Amino acid sequence: MSNDELYRRANAGITSLTPYQPGKPVEEVQREFGLDSVVKLASNENPLGAGASVRQTVVELSAELGRYPDGAGFELKQAIARYHKVNAVQVTLGNGTNELLNMIARLFLAPGSDIVFSQHAFIVYKLASILNQANAIEVPAKNYGHDLDAIADAIRPESRLVFLANPNNPTGSHFDAASFQAFMARVPSEVMVVLDEAYFDYVPEQERFDGVDRVAQYPNLIVTRTFSKAYGLGGLRIGYAISSAKIADWLNRSREPFNTNIIAQAAATAALVDQDHVRDTIACNAQGMVQLSEGLKALGLAYLPSVANFFTVNVGDGVAVAHQLLTKGVIVRAIAEYGMPEFVRVSVGLPEENQRFLDAVAEVIASD
Ligand SMILES: *Cc1c(COP(=O)(O)O)cnc(C)c1O
Repeated sequence: MSNDELYRRANAGITSLTPYQPGKPVEEVQREFGLDSVVKLASNENPLGAGASVRQTVVELSAELGRYPDGAGFELKQAIARYHKVNAVQVTLGNGTNELLNMIARLFLAPGSDIVFSQHAFIVYKLASILNQANAIEVPAKNYGHDLDAIADAIRPESRLVFLANPNNPTGSHFDAASFQAFMARVPSEVMVVLDEAYFDYVPEQERFDGVDRVAQYPNLIVTRTFSKAYGLGGLRIGYAISSAKIADWLNRSREPFNTNIIAQAAATAALVDQDHVRDTIACNAQGMVQLSEGLKALGLAYLPSVANFFTVNVGDGVAVAHQLLTKGVIVRAIAEYGMPEFVRVSVGLPEENQRFLDAVAEVIASD
């Protein structure tokens, strides 16, 4: 008996999916290559980790681990609402932004509908389209950045959702308030726009605009933020969306009752209050960006301009160079699946980690 018919009945959105490829964990590289010291610059994590007050909060919570979390996330939503000057009913919490992006896709997509995003955009947008059996409409990038005019042109009657990353990962590109406003003026009011601001805090203040401030103006706008990057909580999986109260209500109906856990909620609440740690993080990152850009220039390696916490570097053959760097205990990310096979993406680390990367990449290109 063949199982073909059984397998044919499984959801094609799942069976056709190539899963997200995360950066390799340090322990795996240590095991695989027999290395003691490994630096991971592959997932745009905060090299300072979480701040001291957050660590203390997590330790204290160990007494509470037997309890279910507050499914509604009351305290954290209040803290987010205060921070952004919005109403708590506009906030949806997610087990990372990743979960929110999938919840949003599930809310708006149906088989046969479109989701529109830029070439080289964060790959989760494509995965969310495939998972929901929607058509992924990938709009050619301009200078590796979002071409907002072309994205607006690509919207058709079937289009339900547009995903924008500002700044974008892995290209580090961003767009300004005027371009965004011109874009929103062209988007039909029945098409939902998701503005993913995962790297918001890293953008120099004079160059950035806060999407959350525009949510009141555009009922068809959802802004997502994460605690995984500047707040240093990648391991806890917590992010949030700000939208109209109506959309937040629907998103909250679809989520699992306890989608964010007790530690993540408390740590994120503490992290939001500790803006000094965010400032330290930004300062550390700015210094690392200078160190890496000067080092890459000295090596004659071209990289894309970036306003985030990583650089995307043209090394000729990204997969081969990323592998050679692994053997030297430096984890970076090849981004061939983003249609950028010549590049690797390196996250900004601590000064000694950045130097370790620069030394290793110098050895790799010298041995070519
Ligand atoms: C890292 C990242 C996120 C955050 O994902 P989490 O699930 O919150 O960890 C969202 N969007 C982009 C573009 C990212 O690079």
